[in-house]
Amino acid sequence: MATRTIETEVAVVGAGIAGLSAAAKLVAEGAEVAVLEARDRVGGRTWNTEIGGEANELGGQWVAPYQSAMHAMLEDLGIEMFESFREGSHTFIDPAGKVHRYEGHDAPMGDASEKALEVADAKLDALAKELDPESPWDHPDAERLDRVTFETWLQQEVSDEMARDLLRSWLAGGFLAKPAHTFSLLQGMWMISGAGGTFELFEPEQCLAYRVVGGSQLISLRLAERLGDRVVLEAPAREIRWSDDSVEIDAGEAGGVTVKARRAIVAVPPNLTEGIRFEPVLPAWRMRMSQALSQGSINKILAVYETPFWREEGLSGQGFAPYELVRELYDNSPPSASAGVLTTFLAGENAESAGRLSAEDRRRHVLEGMAEYVGPRALEPVDYIETDWCGQEWTRGAYGTSFGPGGLTRFRDDIRRPVGPIHWACTDIAGVGHIHMEGAIRSGQRAAQACLEAAA
Ligand SMILES: Cc1cc2nc3c(=O)[nH]c(=O)nc-3n(C[C@H](O)[C@H](O)[C@H](O)COP(=O)(O)OP(=O)(O)OC[C@H]3O[C@@H](n4cnc5c(N)ncnc54)[C@H](O)[C@@H]3O)c2cc1C
Repeated sequence: MATRTIETEVAVVGAGIAGLSAAAKLVAEGAEVAVLEARDRVGGRTWNTEIGGEANELGGQWVAPYQSAMHAMLEDLGIEMFESFREGSHTFIDPAGKVHRYEGHDAPMGDASEKALEVADAKLDALAKELDPESPWDHPDAERLDRVTFETWLQQEVSDEMARDLLRSWLAGGFLAKPAHTFSLLQGMWMISGAGGTFELFEPEQCLAYRVVGGSQLISLRLAERLGDRVVLEAPAREIRWSDDSVEIDAGEAGGVTVKARRAIVAVPPNLTEGIRFEPVLPAWRMRMSQALSQGSINKILAVYETPFWREEGLSGQGFAPYELVRELYDNSPPSASAGVLTTFLAGENAESAGRLSAEDRRRHVLEGMAEYVGPRALEPVDYIETDWCGQEWTRGAYGTSFGPGGLTRFRDDIRRPVGPIHWACTDIAGVGHIHMEGAIRSGQRAAQACLEAAA
């Protein structure tokens, strides 16, 4: 039995970037809100920690030049960015385990593979140009593109094995975080077109261009500060009772909060709406849709050292090894280099296979993998931080959700279709900036606008 009742205009479920962006826009436009957040903190898939006396991130962090909503949000909140460190030689580890150093964009993988990769990127970019990231299902050939798996496309269209392995590793490993045979070409293309093209999505200079001074969770912390006591923490929405023009949400354990509002924005990853009881139940299309969307698997690792020692050896700390457990590596040191931090992501099948190891064995394999890139000093970090996003109760995976083949064209714009007074937000249903913080902002603002229009 709830002990506290809040009456407001719009109830927002989820205080990630999407929910908070929605709430901030509603309040700025004169509407009243209450935001219910399950965790004891705001920020969702962004989460700061402190290393070397400065903020570092356990979740999302990088900002790309194309992300205009993100740039505008940071400016509005008075938050600065700094350029990610990538001076010096990058590392590429080939199928034989041989370490290559290089500078610039192109890993030294041999002329034939480089050429094949260029051709494959051009094909993907041509297709990306034809898609509207806001509605990829409207492409004239969407049905076919949604039935072909990304793996099948790779096998049929990319003749060179290493080019295939790299593309698989970047899109399936690096972004969807699930095997390439489990999602369609159209779903993969949504990710690419949401960023503007393969260069914007895959090239570290672009997709990892900037970091946020104070850590990316600061965005949510500042938004929550503006919203004040409208944000209620440790209040997981358990039940949403709705009619055509009202919602009543019970949150938290017995003795928690009930919010009564005219409308709701549910701003949680779609895989989590399954955990909320709706009364009356959601329509079949909405239920099947959220069951058809599944998260990827991501374990983000930060290895901390006294100093960024690799810089002394002229290494950027950035590298790529599609055939290894540590498939990617980046220098994630604080801006003042008060500590050295290397970060990697165990993604998709790698997260799952490493998840079968003991924590001790996993740590050993990961550090040995990092040492392949930057030398044996990587083996002895002063701290080692793992964040397994699959184990996070209020996310249960990362970076975001995606359909299996056929899902996008089966459900189309159902992903954003309101049910009665219930609207939906989160990066997973965003077009531009899909599965990025950019998409979270855009999707929150879009849902807020829809509520304002419905109220007018
Ligand atoms: C390891 C990692 C690395 C990433 N790297 C980048 C990157 O470099 N750049 C980038 O742009 N993006 C990155 N991302 C993605 C980015 O973090 C997300 O796209 C974005 O933060 C999602 O915001 P959101 O508000 O849509 O969802 P979320 O952040 O998931 O917010 C949803 C909120 O809802 C809450 N919630 C869930 N269920 C309930 C409930 N029943 N009741 C109340 N509250 C509930 C959750 O606790 C959470 O706070 C990364 C993500 C991860 C995990």
